[in-house]
Amino acid sequence: MSKVLVVTGASRGIGAATARLAGQQGYAVAVNYNSSADRAQAVVDEIVGAGGKAVAIKADVSTPDGAKALFAETDAQLGTATGLFNNAGIVANYRPIDAYDAEALAEMWRVNITSQFLCAGEAVKRMSTTNGGAGGTIVNMSSAASRIGGAGGMLAYAASKGAIDTFTLGLAVDLGPQGIRVNAIRPGLIETEIHDQTGDLQRLERLSGQVPMGRTGTAEEIADVVVYLLSEQASYVNGAIIDIGGGR
Ligand code: NAP
Repeated sequence: MSKVLVVTGASRGIGAATARLAGQQGYAVAVNYNSSADRAQAVVDEIVGAGGKAVAIKADVSTPDGAKALFAETDAQLGTATGLFNNAGIVANYRPIDAYDAEALAEMWRVNITSQFLCAGEAVKRMSTTNGGAGGTIVNMSSAASRIGGAGGMLAYAASKGAIDTFTLGLAVDLGPQGIRVNAIRPGLIETEIHDQTGDLQRLERLSGQVPMGRTGTAEEIADVVVYLLSEQASYVNGAIIDIGGGR
């Protein structure tokens, strides 16, 4: 069976690194983006240039229409998805609790939580053996913040990732009998542009001293674990939440 992987938010950072690695390993990759068209195309060009198969697909996965369109385009251009990496996410600016408003919270929940529900739903329509599919795998993106709590301005982000931990545990139980494994990863401090959104450009450097291994991680180090979880080598791994944070 040909392997078709949907990676949400693959125009840069962890999503892009995972798309590249999966492309090298024989997956046809749907490189999803919302606004960064050129960067998504650059990821596709790299995969195709190395002999792989990939297409860039624009879709805001925090909306039902976007999630539907992403999977419909994947069907049309690559074939039925066999894997989903629910990766797209935002952190937003630091805010104390008395500075949150309902709109900012709604955006956080929509991008970081709703998108994962919607994309998992689209994946299940295609992969579930109950629906006549051939099974598949889903990897959800959580964060070490779900354990640590996000004190100091990132409460909403941390809470959104706590929801993903819970979602993963329940979804793995629901989908195990339908031939779909569901796991999550909880990266720690990873060198990507997402940290710029906090408005604290020294964030990674400042916090890296808290990591027992004494350094931040790379997007490629996260991609290795995601591609493992998607693979047959992880055939009995289901409902796991894997910390990838150098011991922090
Ligand atoms: P990043 O470099 O900022 O990349 C985020 C990606 O998400 C971009 O490709 C962006 O694409 C996409 N995206 C955002 N909103 C979207 C939407 N509504 N629809 C589709 N795509 C959307 O961040 P990253 O560090 O790689 O983060 C990826 C995931 O890892 C996030 O869920 C984040 O919470 C999680 N994480 C990161 C770290 C870390 O230290 N970096 C640690 C733990 C967890 P466009 O630019 O096209 O919108």
